[in-house]
Amino acid sequence: MGRFRIDPSITGASTNNQSASVLASGSQSFKFRVHPNPTSPVKGSFQSDLDSGKFQKRWETLQDFDKWLSDEQRRLAIELRLVNTDTRSDRYTQKRRFVCSRAGTGGKKTYVKIHPEWTRKREGKRTDCGCSLIVKNYPGVSIVLGKYNDAHNHALGNANLRYTQIPKETREYIAGLLRLKVTPEHILHLIHRGVYDSDALFEGEFDGDAVAARTEFIQLRDIRRIEKDIEAETVRLNPDDGLSTLQWVRNLEAKGHLLGFKSKSDTPPPGSGLDRDVFTLMVQTDWQRCMFKKHGAPLLCIDATHNTTMYDSLNLTTLVVRDKWAHGT
Ligand SMILES: [Zn+2]
Repeated sequence: MGRFRIDPSITGASTNNQSASVLASGSQSFKFRVHPNPTSPVKGSFQSDLDSGKFQKRWETLQDFDKWLSDEQRRLAIELRLVNTDTRSDRYTQKRRFVCSRAGTGGKKTYVKIHPEWTRKREGKRTDCGCSLIVKNYPGVSIVLGKYNDAHNHALGNANLRYTQIPKETREYIAGLLRLKVTPEHILHLIHRGVYDSDALFEGEFDGDAVAARTEFIQLRDIRRIEKDIEAETVRLNPDDGLSTLQWVRNLEAKGHLLGFKSKSDTPPPGSGLDRDVFTLMVQTDWQRCMFKKHGAPLLCIDATHNTTMYDSLNLTTLVVRDKWAHGT
């Protein structure tokens, strides 16, 4: 027998019936066909992933997965962040990779600090946590498969809460106030005084302790970050400040949180006593409404604050009731 070599000009074709030609050491050449083993499905396909036993998680539909993902994050007070979406293969529709928000080292600083004593004594967010989740869905199959490594190298639950994102509702509320040019300092004041609390808490959608604690951890820099996002969004989408406010009003209306709104160009409602060119926006979230009903009868305070907004002519007025612990809500 002479030596054989695989002709390098024949690369693995995308079809299953790969043909390869083999050159004998002599001048004779012949071809043969490699038939796929019918019992081994194409690697990376649904059947192959299922058979591999590496995908220990399984959801009947994408919706089921989405629900599981939000439940899991809430249950452990973690955040699984989408870091990669792969749609290049025809063997799966989408392969997504999520990692814990505390994954990574946070980037090691290479510069030498001039004042090392200025370092804030704050525990770093990144712990190099190895938790990861790979989720695949496939063409023609509704079942979603997942490879989940749920080992974290940090505390879970309330202790991890400060390293997760502020609840979406709270962020929207902050964003709304920022759009009205309420200063970040005043927003922080409102949040820490409990003037706003998450409706999600009221709806029982979140673990009560968890959400209440997360708002406590909100810092000025969180609000500034949201402010930056809004600036970017405003530049990109709505160069007109008024438009983004209108969008916010629409969102509030959809959720039933809008009590009243009058733009400068709207005619005042009859009997309202409002000036023709006044801008008015009245907001009450479900949670605030509930607190108002519960505690509003004996004492209702009005907190009217000047100079909390960057618009000279805009005043922010907050109705405050006291709960049984005498906290303003
Ligand atoms: Zn983690």
